[in-house]
Amino acid sequence: MTGGRAALAGMAIKGAPLRVRFQPKLTAWRGRLLESDERGQPVHAASFIRRRLIVLDAELRKRPRELERILAHELSHFAWMRLGNAVRRGWEDVLAREMSRGARGELGWSAELRKEKLAPEDWRRRTRRWREYACESFSDTVAWLRVERRAHDEFTLAARFRVMRKRWFAAHLGGRTIPI
Ligand SMILES: [Zn+2]
Repeated sequence: MTGGRAALAGMAIKGAPLRVRFQPKLTAWRGRLLESDERGQPVHAASFIRRRLIVLDAELRKRPRELERILAHELSHFAWMRLGNAVRRGWEDVLAREMSRGARGELGWSAELRKEKLAPEDWRRRTRRWREYACESFSDTVAWLRVERRAHDEFTLAARFRVMRKRWFAAHLGGRTIPI
């Protein structure tokens, strides 16, 4: 992927070139990414921020719409690193409000898996688990915004909370250029 500007869910992103690589049968095992291996949990993709590398499961080549969603998610991880603490905390506030209202579901599997493991202390004390959830939820929300009109079985968050997330994005990131 060449450097320069691109649009991602209302915000513009801009940065140095990133490499995108396809690999067969990706799995995550003990914190490592494996290919064509029997061990670990199957994953769609992984990002290596410092190496400026995104690795995608080769199967996604046959599913262009899903590829678009997954790639938006992975690019958002690069954007998240550069958002600044104030914006990241603002996003955590959105999520904390949802939690206090008992919101269930998410906008992607990656956030949902983490959300299921959260206890109330996690969001009150901003534990590492909470911050990891916030990051995945941010990326899944960007990916959802990208393909919003399509139904997907990973979009399980109630409509009223989707609206709140969308407003937050428009207010805080709309029209901004985020470095990645
Ligand atoms: Zn992710």
